Amino acid sequence: MSKTSVCIVGSGNWGSAIAKIVGVNAKNLPQYEDRVTMYVFEEMIEGKKLTEIINTTHENVKYLPGHKLPENIVAVPDVVEAAKDADILIFVIPHQFIKGLGAQLVGKIRPTAIGLSLIKGFDIAEGGGIELISKIITKHLQIPCAVLMGANLANEVAEEKFCETTIGVKDKKMAPILRDLFQTPNFRVVVSDDVDAVEICGALKNIVACGAGFTDGLGLGDNTKAAVIRLGLMEMIKFVDVFYPGSKLSTFFESCGVADLITTCYGGRNRKCSEAFVKTGKSIVELEKEMLNGQKLQGPITAAEVNHMLKTRNMEDKFPLFTAIHKICVGEIKPAQMIDCIRNHPEHM
Ligand code: NAD
Ligand code: 13P
Ligand code: CA
Repeated sequence: MSKTSVCIVGSGNWGSAIAKIVGVNAKNLPQYEDRVTMYVFEEMIEGKKLTEIINTTHENVKYLPGHKLPENIVAVPDVVEAAKDADILIFVIPHQFIKGLGAQLVGKIRPTAIGLSLIKGFDIAEGGGIELISKIITKHLQIPCAVLMGANLANEVAEEKFCETTIGVKDKKMAPILRDLFQTPNFRVVVSDDVDAVEICGALKNIVACGAGFTDGLGLGDNTKAAVIRLGLMEMIKFVDVFYPGSKLSTFFESCGVADLITTCYGGRNRKCSEAFVKTGKSIVELEKEMLNGQKLQGPITAAEVNHMLKTRNMEDKFPLFTAIHKICVGEIKPAQMIDCIRNHPEHM
């Protein structure tokens, strides 16, 4: 039987951390091709191409400095070249770039390939709704697409600190193939068939993380932050209940749910920049540039995507926390007004 070949589409902070795991597993397990391609959005670092730096030093010096990537990870600057022979395509780029990148791959990949999205966010659909990123991948590339979401801050995963993750996949044959590619003694995989809810958890928790960051910036303390996290969780559950009925409540107790919500609200980039937003008065765009060295925030854009949908459906008042966070990010209301917006939350009525 021919071996399964893998391509990682993306090489940011999470893409590089996951390359460490996938690279080692692909090498060690006989069913996977050793060589794993990694699409790198090319850029120059001190006069050298990032792909060349990665392929010679085996380190992504910009997005995951201080960690060696396995030598079988091969950086490729052309996404078509990287993806063309892959049986498994792991998508891990900031969500705002997926449509552009997907367009380049149309008709250029194996028709039998399967996708796995590690991307957290949505896209705006025609008619004022949202579209899941995995569905965009399926629609454009005509391949099935599973998801992997969890409490997985990239730097901690790269440091091989113990954590869990959730793979959302419907196809029972694919489940062990994907699990084996990711599972390690310190990265424990739980498989769920509640795929949409797994993905939606991953996207929505980034909005709540902004709220947690505003709370920190305002100096409101641990009880207030816990209230913001709890109300955020309730809005996440309600969102799935209203717009994706048939999903399971138990999914929120997986790593992709409450665990990712907690870790992001304490240790994530969305939290950090949102705290600075309150303390400095600078815009989100300025802070992303100043604080993240090319890494990207997903929370404020996701808040805008969700707000677009809620507004179109006249449902902003049913999700007061999501709504307030969006309005704060775009400067419509002040961070200090967040608490007034949730004081009479539907959960309290
Ligand atoms: P990142 O935040 O490090 O983003 C930087 C990456 O985006 C770089 O590889 C850069 O080259 C690339 N990029 C910049 N402009 C581009 C363009 N025009 N087209 C294509 N690529 C471009 O990325 P990340 O941390 O790997 O995050 C990717 C996804 O994974 C996001 O949806 C994120 O929410 C999710 N995620 C991140 C983490 C984490 O801790 N970093 C953990 C879990 C999930
Ligand atoms: P941030 O993008 O806020 O850093 O969150 C990372 C993440 O998704 C952890 O699971
Ligand atoms: Ca192998």
